[in-house]
Amino acid sequence: MEFLKTLGIEGINPGTSTGRKHIESKETISSFTPTNGEKIATVGVTSREQYDRVVEEAQKAYQVWSNMPAPQRGEIVRQIGQKLREYKEPLGKLVTYEMGKIYQEGLGEVQEMIDICDFAVGQSRMLYGKTMHSERPEHRMYEQWHPLGIVGIISAFNFPVAVWSWNAMIAAVCGNVMIWKGSEKTPLCGVAVQKIVAKVLKENDLPEGIFNLVTGDRQVGEWMTEDTRIPLISATGSIRMGKEVGKTVASRLGKTILELGGNNAIIISEHADIEMAIRATVFGAVGTCGQRCTSTRRLIIHESVYDQVKERLMNIYDNITIGDPLEETTLVGPMIDQDAINNMQNALKEIEKEGGKVIYGGDVLEEDGFYVRPALAEVENHYEIVQEETFAPILYLMKFKDMDEAIAMHNGVKQGLSSAMFTLNMREAETFLSARGSDCGIANINIGTSGAEIGGAFGGEKETGGGRESGSDAWKAYMRRQTNTMNWGDSLPLAQGIDFDV
Ligand code: NAD
Repeated sequence: MEFLKTLGIEGINPGTSTGRKHIESKETISSFTPTNGEKIATVGVTSREQYDRVVEEAQKAYQVWSNMPAPQRGEIVRQIGQKLREYKEPLGKLVTYEMGKIYQEGLGEVQEMIDICDFAVGQSRMLYGKTMHSERPEHRMYEQWHPLGIVGIISAFNFPVAVWSWNAMIAAVCGNVMIWKGSEKTPLCGVAVQKIVAKVLKENDLPEGIFNLVTGDRQVGEWMTEDTRIPLISATGSIRMGKEVGKTVASRLGKTILELGGNNAIIISEHADIEMAIRATVFGAVGTCGQRCTSTRRLIIHESVYDQVKERLMNIYDNITIGDPLEETTLVGPMIDQDAINNMQNALKEIEKEGGKVIYGGDVLEEDGFYVRPALAEVENHYEIVQEETFAPILYLMKFKDMDEAIAMHNGVKQGLSSAMFTLNMREAETFLSARGSDCGIANINIGTSGAEIGGAFGGEKETGGGRESGSDAWKAYMRRQTNTMNWGDSLPLAQGIDFDV
């Protein structure tokens, strides 16, 4: 396949790298394409000894990188953005081939990387601290932001390249060096990105150890979370994983950014533009085959429009093209693997067991690869299965009578990532966005739950973990704040007027 060649992917690929240097391993994992279940290539698994070498290299590189002025670091990030522009198509194709999202979304993911590079370049000149007035004469008080050191990035399979860039590009302009462990389900994406970045490192004659890659399953992730040499772990994945990572890092008083599962809902009011609401719902529910952290999982519909919405959805679902994600006409590609299909099938059984009804789809298609028909189910919000994030294209339909009930149902889950309401009624819209409205990190009006822009801070509340990444002031999480007081006078007054004469 031409795009694999362009990206430098071979039959056997080293999965450990300190930048330009790629380190071979004895143990390997295989990467399979969910499009037909075939093996693409193998990637070397990072051994404990190699992991320690990577960390040592990163520690050395930190001395160089953190001493470079931030706008110069921004210039390197600008060049990474340029390189990503050059490789947008092959990298987008690899994302599609290895992860299964449709090509448009694969390209979108690489575009997101490019966007965050541009954002980070600007940010490199805006690492602002405040200046305060000291209560003591001839004193100056201010705060500044310093890098943390090594930032460990653990990412999930469903955004195999963008999540790395949200973290790495911002962390890099802040002066940190990065160690990235991607998902063991999408190891080639990590290898390809590392090779693209290596070209920029080489062109600028930068040392090894700034952008590092390690490969493996949770074992490698655990080395990172336990490692006191890594002050910040940014982890994206399931709530189960986040609870483990959070506990391990907290036990050594390290810092975390946790970006975990969601259970996102759209409320469709009686005052909604129903067609718009339906289009947003379908994209949110079946896009990426229901495997986005922001996928729409629950649809809370006003009783007066419930039947209309249900019927329209069933019609649209009937016309969705499911198949090879590289084909232009496909809207829904495969799930990541057989385990994902099994989870979906178990969830569908669970729905019926709890008294719900699967009213459309859910069947496994008889094709090579992991294809399913997206499902619609009528349920109640309190069902145990509805309370969980099933990482699959199942959309739950529920009815509400009034706004208070809609918000109570909306907020009545453990997760708090993304949320949306469709209404043309201003009071309803403002209520949803107010403190007594949505309890999520992201709340939208007349926009679906998925497809965030990089300019805002991205993340969620409650069991979604509380982390924020990407835009706004998310950069502060990658830095340590230092409060500085400078006495430029010739006396030593104490704060609070304390008299201590020696
Ligand atoms: P996962 O939790 O199985 O794995 C995620 C990553 O964590 C992998 O790299 C894995 O190797 C690693 N890992 C697992 N257990 C670990 C441990 N104990 N210590 C250290 N590392 C560990 O998740 P997945 O199946 O790859 O991805 C799907 C999940 O990710 C969904 O729940 C989805 O909602 C979530 N997600 C959240 C966001 C967000 O921004 N909130 C974005 C993308 C995905």
